[in-house]
Amino acid sequence: MSAPAQPDISLDRRFAEEFPELSIPWSAEVATAPRLIVLNRPLADHLGLDPADLESPDGVRLLIGNRVPRGAAPVAQGYSGHQFGSYSPRLGDGRALLLGELTDAGGQLCDIHLKGSGRTPFARGGADGRAALGPMLREYVISEAMHALGIPTSRSLAVLATGDVVRREKPLPGAVLTRVASSHLRVGSFQYASAIGGSELVRRLADHAIARHAPVAADAENPHLALFTAAVSAQAQLVAQWMLVGFVHGVMNTDNMAISGETIDYGPCAFVDAYDPAAVFSSIDQSGRYAYRNQPPIAEWNLARFAETLLPLFNDDDEQAIALAQEALGAFRREYSAAWFLGMKTKLGLSQDLDDEVCTPVVDDVMTLLQEQSLDYTSFFRALNHAARGDVRPVRQKARDLGALDAWLDGWRGLNPNAEQMDRVNPVYIPRNHLVEEALEAATDGDLAPFHQLLEAVTDPYHERERFVRYASEAPASFGPYRTFCGT
Ligand code: AMP
Ligand code: MG
Repeated sequence: MSAPAQPDISLDRRFAEEFPELSIPWSAEVATAPRLIVLNRPLADHLGLDPADLESPDGVRLLIGNRVPRGAAPVAQGYSGHQFGSYSPRLGDGRALLLGELTDAGGQLCDIHLKGSGRTPFARGGADGRAALGPMLREYVISEAMHALGIPTSRSLAVLATGDVVRREKPLPGAVLTRVASSHLRVGSFQYASAIGGSELVRRLADHAIARHAPVAADAENPHLALFTAAVSAQAQLVAQWMLVGFVHGVMNTDNMAISGETIDYGPCAFVDAYDPAAVFSSIDQSGRYAYRNQPPIAEWNLARFAETLLPLFNDDDEQAIALAQEALGAFRREYSAAWFLGMKTKLGLSQDLDDEVCTPVVDDVMTLLQEQSLDYTSFFRALNHAARGDVRPVRQKARDLGALDAWLDGWRGLNPNAEQMDRVNPVYIPRNHLVEEALEAATDGDLAPFHQLLEAVTDPYHERERFVRYASEAPASFGPYRTFCGT
């Protein structure tokens, strides 16, 4: 009889070794009855890990943090953060661990990270360090949907049930999410480094960030300014993509913004259904600071906080350093607007060769139409694909004011929209709020079938399939206004 598969995985401990000031060696809480709930086999392959190994009892213990891979030195990372605008000097991984780093099939170094792995010294107050199954599956399905939509994001490798009970409003099954990101360097990591170690620690962290995220910056005249410029550009592109797909992150605190330009820390996020620029879903965001339309200015605000930590590296002279930072940050609005406009032209099937002046009225008017008629954002654009092929019925069925829609359609069709181009960028399937809730409720009660169905639909978002027709439809009126919660 052959021996059961023994996952032989080795990880680097680069962050842990290079930044003892910014991390605390720590171990995951031992789970009572670890059980694999979902494994991302394609991602495991991409990471060079054998899915069969990961499914073995030892693999499960590894994924949940209870068997430390060779070479690894798990740590809780420290960071600060502006939360809803007010500064918290010490946040850090209260319930998460960086297991270590791995080089993926593309040669990219990435973090293997656990969420819900138990209380760490960074946990505050009565926080229990745990996570419930529903919210971890939520991050899994939404991050994988974002990836399939072509939006930079942390990935989800696995969700594991711990067998322990997590006390929230009611007792819930506990879980750990094993996630992968190109790093977990946040704006808040730099704020923390600046506060505890000054410009020398910031310099080392910035050099580490250059090596991982902006290697060409190393050869620039001012490498740290080039790093900042790269982060500005990455965020402008990222937030434009969020806006184009109707994604609301929900808690864009500086500790939840990765300088890699990947979407991270999925908490109370949601997708806009009936188009409303003021859409807010998070129950704790009472002032609407992180509303849909505020995401670009908030990203810019967070980048200004990032720049503040880097100023001493930009120039020895304070005034010159500030001028350099302002100039670099000034690119955000231009780059964001250009990326958004180009994306919108693509969604509308308009040729890249068409002058922006010709497209502007069509783009402006479609946004007004969406807003005035509270149209379902995702299915409206997909219905336009049919209109581009000559079938205007699906889109006309959606209109509340047919006269306004018909007038707009005339102007738009005059620009010869290309339906194939639209098929590639207007998704049929997104993780619609009512479907996510339905899948998580069932999973919490032990039925994973709706979760797997939803995952199958949203991880192939442009490919229309008859059996997923329900997943392309708007929420029933009975679903009501959607609220998301941070207490995960
Ligand atoms: P978040 O809003 O998820 O980005 O978390 C903000 C901060 O609260 C981070 O420092 C988290 O580590 C910490 N935190 C959130 N939930 C818990 C929990 N259940 N136990 C310990 N720390 C937590
Ligand atoms: Mg966070």
